[in-house]
Amino acid sequence: MITFYPGPSKVYPQVADYAAEAVRSGIVSLNHRSPGFMEVVKEAIHLLHEKLAIPADYHIAFVSSATECWEIVAQSLTGETSLHPYGGAFGKKWAEYAYRIKPPFNLSQADTLCIVQNETSNGTQVNREALAQFRQDFSGLVAVDAVSSMAGVEFDWTLADVWFASVQKCFGLPAGLAMLVYSPDALKRAEAIGENEHYNSLLFIHENFSKYQTPYTPNGLGIYCLMRVLQQIPPIARVAEVTRKRAAAWYAFFEQTMAGSPFNLLISDPAVRSDTVIAVEGSEADVKAMKTAAQQAGILLGNGYGDWKNTTFRIANFPAITDEEIEQLTHFLRTYPT
Ligand SMILES: *Cc1c(COP(=O)(O)O)cnc(C)c1O
Repeated sequence: MITFYPGPSKVYPQVADYAAEAVRSGIVSLNHRSPGFMEVVKEAIHLLHEKLAIPADYHIAFVSSATECWEIVAQSLTGETSLHPYGGAFGKKWAEYAYRIKPPFNLSQADTLCIVQNETSNGTQVNREALAQFRQDFSGLVAVDAVSSMAGVEFDWTLADVWFASVQKCFGLPAGLAMLVYSPDALKRAEAIGENEHYNSLLFIHENFSKYQTPYTPNGLGIYCLMRVLQQIPPIARVAEVTRKRAAAWYAFFEQTMAGSPFNLLISDPAVRSDTVIAVEGSEADVKAMKTAAQQAGILLGNGYGDWKNTTFRIANFPAITDEEIEQLTHFLRTYPT
């Protein structure tokens, strides 16, 4: 079975070897405050800076999920409350989680702007120009959920103070690890707020990570595999070029080759279409039949999500997917139904 599911998604096949290496070498049995383990954390963070071109003065910490990052932003970085201009299910969820921690009593006092850069639920993205506009219009802290785009597309990191992603999307790794990237201004905000009541309070996390340690026993296997995948992948500029070309090919495929089929692109405005998640719309019956036929052909398509659960399917355009797999799926779609 090949998978185009947009999370959890295809894992790089090499991860099987990396995981075996981690066990055989004893890395996963090391105390997380031992020099050997701290070296792995340090190297993974170094490689994130290098391969993803993250500015040297932006800090990186590992936590367990993007959902945890939503809560960290609310509890440790939001003074009054936050703004959430969203257009899909993940943006809505983030707002709900944040408002439980910092209720929106006075939105005019909002000091944090929360943006989902790539809305996995419906295949839309906030492009660089739009992010730049948000940055210009909002004087507070800008936090970006880049869960399904980080390591797949390029960012101008300076356009936000906080960026985060979990590894089960574009990083091609099994779930259970996330990275929180934060600017010097974000750290200043955390210091001004002084929130230190949680195991995952940002100040406590920061203090630990400045020594390449973690407040709790971390996902050592995940961090090791991340380090190895980062060693393997090309710099982000090259990865992003492939992602962009493949996305353009997918959109052209649905607009041209699939014209006249019962399936249409969910997002008609090219300016907001995602580079990493392609959402395709059809009737409930057509979508169901297509997904079943694909499965019989050994191809797993992504289900719809949220409001689009039954009337769309999604195709991940993540770096771990190969040209051969894409060819297999386009061949299936071109010849469907036969
Ligand atoms: C998958 C996803 C999440 C949730 O990530 P977890 O690691 O499950 O917490 C959040 N935001 C977006 C945009 C996602 O695609």
